[in-house]
Amino acid sequence: MKVLVTGGAGYIGSVVAARLLEAGHRVTVLDNLSTGHRDAVPDGCAFIEGDIREQAAAALSDGVDAVMHFAAKSVVPESVARPELYWSGNVGATLALLEAMRAADVRRIVFSSTAAVYGEPEQVPIPEEAPVRPGNPYGASKAAIDAALTEHARMHGIGAVSLRYFNVAGAYGRFGERHTTETHLIPIVLQVALGERASVAVYGADYATPDGTCVRDYIHVRDLADAHLLALDGSAPGEHRVFNLGNGTGFSVREVIEVCREVTGHPIPVVPAKRRPGDPAVLVASSARARHDLGWSPQRPSLREIVADAWAFHGGEQQAAALGARAGGAA
Ligand code: UDP
Repeated sequence: MKVLVTGGAGYIGSVVAARLLEAGHRVTVLDNLSTGHRDAVPDGCAFIEGDIREQAAAALSDGVDAVMHFAAKSVVPESVARPELYWSGNVGATLALLEAMRAADVRRIVFSSTAAVYGEPEQVPIPEEAPVRPGNPYGASKAAIDAALTEHARMHGIGAVSLRYFNVAGAYGRFGERHTTETHLIPIVLQVALGERASVAVYGADYATPDGTCVRDYIHVRDLADAHLLALDGSAPGEHRVFNLGNGTGFSVREVIEVCREVTGHPIPVVPAKRRPGDPAVLVASSARARHDLGWSPQRPSLREIVADAWAFHGGEQQAAALGARAGGAA
């Protein structure tokens, strides 16, 4: 198949683009490089630099069979401060993409949705039937797109699949997480191990969880990517299918930090901090539907392996050895 990957210079998009190429698909990446990196686009992909609104029609003109849509703004605190950026950059751009798909008669789309559409869940693990009640503008923008996809599938006969990611982490070889402003827990903790930060702030220790810190479901980016390829095959004309993607196991912030200590050998100092606005206490996926309907099963559910792959991506072992050698030399 020929697949257009929007946001293919970003973390998850680049891993999916690499897996698509390995599976024998042809891939064009469309990315405006606002947060992505040109060198993250896998060799073998065609690359178009630009915004969806300006470039989607051209990118779709050349016999594209399907779109995988990753390009989005995805920083929750930024969405709280500047919601208009999320309505325009996420909802507006996706509506333009759907319009361009209609004009070019491209009839399949796999969309990066998020667990953030569920807000504070009533039931854990969270099934897809759980009410959609996003607790921040980022989640609201993704929920709005999910609703638009349902309508487009119904009215225009496209096959749409929304994949609701829980906490994606880890790396796939040279493809990993490189945000200019990092907000995610595992990369921040690894920055401490690399000597780039002094400590990690733990946002809230008074949640109703076993150790008081928030519990999340961490999924390996490679397992997540593989679900996209299954979703591509599983899309059906006129249907909008929705799947949660997680391992079904929760780890607290403290547990994640402990695993990072074990993997890196660094003490990782922590400092207590206030709760971060918009953080639900527990987010754990039921992925029973993806397992049953797509035949998906995560191959790398171990948090230790997820962290170890992220650590290897950041050159952790070499850099930690260099830091150790410098410290040794100074002593
Ligand atoms: N977190 C933390 N310190 C940090 C970054 C994150 O305590 O420096 C917590 C955050 O409050 C949440 C969990 O780690 O409970 C996972 O946050 P992340 O931003 O990685 O993912 P999210 O669940 O918000 O998508």
